[in-house]
Amino acid sequence: MKRDWDAIVIGGGHNGLTCAAYLAQAGRRVLVLEKRHVLGGAAVSEEVFPGFTFSVCSYVVSLMRPWIIRDLDLVRHGYQTIPLECSFTPYPDGRSLARGTDSEATRREIAQFSARDAEVYFEYGQAMGRLAAFVKPIIDSPAPQPTSKNPLEILELLRLGKRFRDLPDELFDQKLGLLTMSAVDFLEAWFESDQLIAPMAVSGIIGTFLGVRSPGTAYVLLHHYMGEIDGAFRSWGFARGGTGGVSLSIAGAARAAGAEIRTEAPIERILVEGGAARGVVLESGEEIRAKCVVSSADPRRTFMGFVGAEHLPDEFVADLSRYRYRGSSGKVNLALDRLPEFTCRPGDGPHMRGDIAIGPSVDYLERAYDDAKYGQFSKRPYINMVIPSLVDKSLAPPGKHVMSCFVQYAPYDLEGGAERWPEQREAFGDTVIDTLAEYMPGIRETILHRQVLTPWDLEQEFGLTEGNIFHGELSLEQLAFQRPTAGWANYKTPVRELWTCGSGTHPGGGLMGAPGALAAKEMLRARAL
Ligand SMILES: Cc1cc2nc3c(=O)[nH]c(=O)nc-3n(C[C@H](O)[C@H](O)[C@H](O)COP(=O)(O)OP(=O)(O)OC[C@H]3O[C@@H](n4cnc5c(N)ncnc54)[C@H](O)[C@@H]3O)c2cc1C
Repeated sequence: MKRDWDAIVIGGGHNGLTCAAYLAQAGRRVLVLEKRHVLGGAAVSEEVFPGFTFSVCSYVVSLMRPWIIRDLDLVRHGYQTIPLECSFTPYPDGRSLARGTDSEATRREIAQFSARDAEVYFEYGQAMGRLAAFVKPIIDSPAPQPTSKNPLEILELLRLGKRFRDLPDELFDQKLGLLTMSAVDFLEAWFESDQLIAPMAVSGIIGTFLGVRSPGTAYVLLHHYMGEIDGAFRSWGFARGGTGGVSLSIAGAARAAGAEIRTEAPIERILVEGGAARGVVLESGEEIRAKCVVSSADPRRTFMGFVGAEHLPDEFVADLSRYRYRGSSGKVNLALDRLPEFTCRPGDGPHMRGDIAIGPSVDYLERAYDDAKYGQFSKRPYINMVIPSLVDKSLAPPGKHVMSCFVQYAPYDLEGGAERWPEQREAFGDTVIDTLAEYMPGIRETILHRQVLTPWDLEQEFGLTEGNIFHGELSLEQLAFQRPTAGWANYKTPVRELWTCGSGTHPGGGLMGAPGALAAKEMLRARAL
């Protein structure tokens, strides 16, 4: 049936779906077009091997905005999270550190490395929590525009300035440190034990092409204190059914509000006529028109791919060319015949039911980065590993497990070119298994199947330019009113009736839904449709 659409949403990732759900709830006729056979984009669950369902890319949830869960009634549509029990780090000397919800036990665990750190740890958590509370309103509203002459936006800036002025002195100093320092420098001002600093510092490098000692990485530490699960601040969890469960719940809300969603519908280009977006042309040649188009694909794919430089101002094109992607991560998903075990802490336990970090020292992490700087994947990478089948039995057959390993560094620009990744894929997978085997010697015998995703695969299969997991690095100069470029951070674009709503817009990457929801609100406020 041919319909008149108010909006076409490009991409059925969680942000495109969120945007569609809000627009449909406001009574607009919305069509979502997704390239792949399955919804979710980077937040997807797939039965990669018979009986084994993986969160193929994104694997833990925390940042998903609570107001979106409420507005879209996502719990009714199947949204459910299971909190992680622990953050666990094994060390080569046979020791290990488990930081969990039991604060006395966590204190004892940290005290084996430093009694002082055990005391300071909770003070640090509280300071970061208070700082995050100051910053959090920024991720729940459109980016403040420092050059705006709009009275409402000026008022918003003044409010923001006041929030910062009201920061207690000791927090103000911390804030300055966060904006300028490296994750390690910032943490060393609090802690003394390398065994604690290393696994804490890695939050600062996820999805960036920076090392834990690179200035600017401290700020990203704060990003990881902004999440919440069921109202519990700074908690991470698994989504039931894998992270695709989050996307499918949003799709359910969008459909319930009347949106239509098509999969296997790849867009070739956006129809631009007289400087305005009028619809899209699919790769099949099918043309679909609408009052406006909103793209959740990343900025390069949207503007250079679907629109074309000929329809864009030169300055905008130049700014976009400076926006950095530089993917640095890969993923190895393992189907396991049985639960493997750590030499340092054998058997099952809370340490297996959270996230497990292979990153035993600051030097280890820096060496991993050194390899990447010169175009190699890390010989001994940082690995963040989870085994969600321990708490969600729907993911694997009885007694068997799925293990998800997020791996850094895997530089998109390999020496000799990114196109060398397919021939390096299995060697990269072997390196990850060899690294794990140093801590879990029996792991090889438990592996039934493995899926190895390099940054090249993330680009080819998931449309993530240069394999960047966040649609562009989450570095300070690419955030807020500069995401993706100064002057165009409010979801509008230089093409009339073309909007953006993906992770390449404010407030950026991660499974949070805010770009999609805020874009829809801006479109409705601007009476774009
Ligand atoms: C390996 C990996 C691990 C991650 N881990 C975490 C994590 O644990 N926690 C967390 O919070 N975040 C994590 N992230 C980041 C998070 O998953 C992403 O930031 C987020 O899912 C992006 O959502 P999005 O809707 O903005 O974009 P996407 O999910 O990228 O959606 C864009 C959609 O557009 C579609 N598309 C592209 N081209 C076309 C076309 N031509 N026609 C039609 N459709 C098209 C794509 O197929 C895709 O579905 C991870 C990401 C990756 C890749």
